[in-house]
Amino acid sequence: MADLSEEQRNELQAKLQQLAGLPPEEQNKKAMEMLTPDEIEFLKEQQGSGGGQCIFCRIIKGEVPAKTVYEDANFIAFLDINPASPGHTLFVTKEHVQILPQLSDELGAEALNIIKKLATVVFEATNAQGVNIMQANGSAAGQSVPHVHFHIIPRFEDDKLRLDWDPIKLSEEQFKEVQKRISEKTKDIGKKVVYDLSGKIVKEERKTKKEEPEKPEEMPKFRRRRA
Ligand code: AMP
Ligand code: ZN
Repeated sequence: MADLSEEQRNELQAKLQQLAGLPPEEQNKKAMEMLTPDEIEFLKEQQGSGGGQCIFCRIIKGEVPAKTVYEDANFIAFLDINPASPGHTLFVTKEHVQILPQLSDELGAEALNIIKKLATVVFEATNAQGVNIMQANGSAAGQSVPHVHFHIIPRFEDDKLRLDWDPIKLSEEQFKEVQKRISEKTKDIGKKVVYDLSGKIVKEERKTKKEEPEKPEEMPKFRRRRA
């Protein structure tokens, strides 16, 4: 598995930006001259073509069979091979990105839209009483396949599935500290961000702030129906 240090990733990032400025027909040739074998291997693995290692990419390419229940140009959904309950479905991006933040805003929005509908279909088809939608990022979070996917898990009142946790105790100070650390960074969440293959930000655009209406909007009036 080719891995690059922080410094090497920065160097690669600079090269990719240089390449992106070239006409498309020159990019490939120049890339072969500029990139080291390790960098090429790293990019291939990022794209999921590194020796066809990624199991979900192999399913997408049709190299490994799967029980597909949905497919379009950007996504595929198939039954989990080790289901938590009957109908446990994996919704997978066709693009090989490892974690959710690497997904473009457009694909992220499209994914949620389809997941919403797919979860309803799975719920109805399995006569479930509830549905969990779960998504893991990083091995510490329990991610075992490094290719973005969402679990859609039908739930039943007596299914005895354990997806809960024992709550920890935080002092008021600890709550405030973690609130401060998170909220300091949420100012930028409205930015449109574009990532490159290694997950680095290559473009940021600030969404224009919504203009405040001059007058506060009036509450809609309800007319009493005449008898
Ligand atoms: P996660 O642990 O969140 O990364 O989830 C990966 C899921 O992929 C697990 O629930 C596995 O059972 C499932 N999985 C792994 N290989 C396959 C496969 N070939 N077909 C269907 N599901 C798979
Ligand atoms: Zn993949």
